Amino acid sequence: MWIGVPRETAPLERRAAVTPESVQKLIASGFEVVVEAGLGLAAGYADEAYQAAGAQVTPDTARVLSAPIVLKVRPPTSEEVGALQPDALLIALLQPERRPELLEELRTRGVTALALERIPRVTRAQKMDVLSSMANLAGYRAVLEAAAQFQGCFGPQITAAGSSPPAKVLVIGAGVAGLAAISAARALGAEVRAFDTRAAAREQVESLGAKFLEVALEESGDGGGGYAKLMSPEFIAAEMALFRQQAREVDVIITTALVPGAKAPLLVPVDVVECLAPGSIIVDLAAEQGGNCALTVADAVVTHGGVKILGFTDLVSRMAAVASRLFGNNLVHLLAELHGAAGLVIDLESEVIRPALLTHRGEVLPPPPRREPSPPSKRVAPPPPTARSPQQEITSPTRRAWGTTLGGMLVLAIIFFLGRFAPQELLQHLTVFVLACFVGWQVIWSVSPSLHTPLMSVTNAISGIIVVGGILQVGPELDLAGVLGAVAVLIATINVAGGFLVTQRMLKMFHREAK
Ligand code: NAD
Repeated sequence: MWIGVPRETAPLERRAAVTPESVQKLIASGFEVVVEAGLGLAAGYADEAYQAAGAQVTPDTARVLSAPIVLKVRPPTSEEVGALQPDALLIALLQPERRPELLEELRTRGVTALALERIPRVTRAQKMDVLSSMANLAGYRAVLEAAAQFQGCFGPQITAAGSSPPAKVLVIGAGVAGLAAISAARALGAEVRAFDTRAAAREQVESLGAKFLEVALEESGDGGGGYAKLMSPEFIAAEMALFRQQAREVDVIITTALVPGAKAPLLVPVDVVECLAPGSIIVDLAAEQGGNCALTVADAVVTHGGVKILGFTDLVSRMAAVASRLFGNNLVHLLAELHGAAGLVIDLESEVIRPALLTHRGEVLPPPPRREPSPPSKRVAPPPPTARSPQQEITSPTRRAWGTTLGGMLVLAIIFFLGRFAPQELLQHLTVFVLACFVGWQVIWSVSPSLHTPLMSVTNAISGIIVVGGILQVGPELDLAGVLGAVAVLIATINVAGGFLVTQRMLKMFHREAK
């Protein structure tokens, strides 16, 4: 099975869908790769590097586009669609909401089209999530662009000639791009504050050392599945009032607010811009979706009352080398998910692949049903108990406290009842067992689910004690205690080995990949 990768033709696009590194990985997994000459030049990857990685390099665009699998960054032009083979698989950012005509062209051509922006943000799909990889870079780059235009320093300066305070940065929207912007601005020494409609964002914002802002109006911005939902006009007005007040204090505003599938919400109207001091900077990451700022012009720098509004839509392309590397690696994982070179499998039941499939076998596939966000409401009433998930039920502190108290009382009653006729030794063991269950339960549910994996590694110590206990029980005679001891040793050993493997895997994620 071979893969064709044509050059990107969209204006300002400097990324390549694959780099020599990802070519190597694709070849190692059994694919042949043919790239168009000059594919990675704008991103700093020479044709020779692709050749050295094992790819064939050809100037023949038509040959590249005739591959059974075609990888691209941006949507193809009509001519490119015309050059695709019927039954080919096209993987790219296809902008289905903005390009309905492209969908029809792909369907007529009989192409199976997979839109990378539709890969859901679920844990299993993280390594294929191109949008997150790119948004992360965009947030970082937005801060660098702001710093380059800002006439001061982001970090505090103390010199013999005088001092200057840190720049004050407001980040609106604390999703992937927003959090990356907060982190980069903090790293440059700025004082950062941020706002988001999702309550879950608070912890992430604060963990990066920024202040989380709030509005007086209470309304949940959570649209389900970690996505945001459209807010009510009253909430947007309250947000604008907050930003108006903040604009009198801050030097830089970075806007990243987005609700999937909708036009970017207008959050920084002209009067808020006019509250900023001359020399201030706004970077509007949502420029391509209409902008969060009323004065944003896509791919231009607008100056209004001395405030510069940057509407760059190519922030990621300005870091084309690293962006292409991450993009290519995401595609390697995606192709592995499709079962790789052994024979592609388009699984219409897959929670990762199905949402991204736009056309298949000459049909336009409707988006799979997604939990609809609830309509905007002024005040959120606490959800009825039946609407809670089992996980929420368990993690609710009040419910847990009640559950623990009632459960404890029940167990005490049972032990007390057994104490009347059961042997003393059994009662002692039972008490230790019940206490161990109680402590384990409290430890697990008092630790945030995101920390369960490290917790698992720590429980190796407990497994070690079990191994010692089990070994002590295994004697020369094969009695019940000996058998149970041996089983305990086996299970605890599996737990210890598994714990170490998981820890190793986690640590590897933090290692820098060699260039
Ligand atoms: P995301 O969905 O992860 O984050 C968007 C955040 O906005 C969410 O946390 C959401 O809760 C928040 N939000 C929604 N409505 C809001 C409101 N009214 N007020 C405050 N916050 C609100 O999205 P992302 O992946 O971080 O991308 C953010 C933006 O960056 C998108 O518009 C994306 O297209 C853009 N982007 C731009 C470039 C570029 O080069 N300019 C590159 C990549 C991404």
